[in-house]
Amino acid sequence: MKKKYMPGKHFLQLPGPSNVPDRILRAMDYPTIDHRGPDFTKLTRACLDGMKSIFKTTSDVIIFPASGTGAWEAALVNILNEGDLVLMVETGHFASLWNKMALQLGIKTEFLKTDWRRGVEPEKLFDRLIKDTEKKIKAVCVVHNETSTGSISRINEVREAIDSSSHNAFLMVDTISGLASLEYKHDEWGVDVTISGSQKGLMLPPGLSFNAISEKALLASNKNSMKRSYWDWKEQIKSNESGSFPYTPATNLLYGLKEAINMLHEEGLANVFNRHDRHAEATRIAVQAWGLEVLCQEEKDYSSVLTAVKLPEGHNADSLRKIILEEFNMSLGNGLSKLAGKVFRIGHLGDFNDLMLMGTLNGVEMGLSLAGVPHQKGGASRASEYLTNNIVK
Ligand SMILES: *Cc1c(COP(=O)(O)O)cnc(C)c1O
Repeated sequence: MKKKYMPGKHFLQLPGPSNVPDRILRAMDYPTIDHRGPDFTKLTRACLDGMKSIFKTTSDVIIFPASGTGAWEAALVNILNEGDLVLMVETGHFASLWNKMALQLGIKTEFLKTDWRRGVEPEKLFDRLIKDTEKKIKAVCVVHNETSTGSISRINEVREAIDSSSHNAFLMVDTISGLASLEYKHDEWGVDVTISGSQKGLMLPPGLSFNAISEKALLASNKNSMKRSYWDWKEQIKSNESGSFPYTPATNLLYGLKEAINMLHEEGLANVFNRHDRHAEATRIAVQAWGLEVLCQEEKDYSSVLTAVKLPEGHNADSLRKIILEEFNMSLGNGLSKLAGKVFRIGHLGDFNDLMLMGTLNGVEMGLSLAGVPHQKGGASRASEYLTNNIVK
């Protein structure tokens, strides 16, 4: 069958990659320059200093031309060694992938289970750490915003759990989908390695990823004997000091990154975070009015980046997503691994406003009707009432 012609804009409502604003597209639309020349040095500085202001750190930040997965690996191989034990929490699909990667690198993991409907429970971390009297656990690795379930983990409370158990484990945090959408404080929360990526809250295309590194982690990495080359922090930091990279960097993505950082500061990070909270609340109001269930069961763990919505038994989320894509030209996130077919995910992150949210929610509501999913009408209009009653001054 011939594909229908689709006029107008595609709605990319995945929880990453997110919509790339025109300003960023324009900023990248320049000739690639000499990555060892004087102009490039300025660009490197602007990006590195800018990213420190986003991570809220005064320590080193490293930029890799890689997807987020690469920065996961960099975090592990720089401060851990084969045979080391790390404590991870199975908050969902992404935490599971990171755990799998650690195992493949020869790192031992202890993987605390959850039901994939909440974030990390700090008490459970505390209970485990306090029993580790020999301090065998070298690092605690958690996902800040679990993109497969729409649940967040409260990193300040994870920090408290480590401190109050008097443990010295490193804290590593994946905020690939949280950074620049949710409040994040690398230094204040005492995170040793923070991992992020370009294609979510940072509003860029995929292709860049980041490590923010504490002083303690940097010292450990200098002494760590784990085999590594491309991911080694040392070479990066050395090159970055003179404004360059140890290899050819992703120049045009860096033009985009500089613009993204400018945009985030123009809006103001606090306003960016409030905007995400407000859109997430409106989305949950719609889901509740439809009579459907938000996957995350802990109110305090609700993600402002995305909402995962459960479909009633006997209804397939992928059939619903297919109808919405074909009829309304909107992409929604699918259910990952054990959630396949059971949930769909609405991304409300990045370069996003009230009318984009209303288009998204109306598209979902129309799709629910076409797919024959039992629901009550009016969820989208309840969300629009909420937005109207909570205008940002
Ligand atoms: C997207 C994502 C990843 C994977 O990042 P890639 O860029 O696809 O490698 C890892 N963790 C979380 C929480 C994510 O949202």
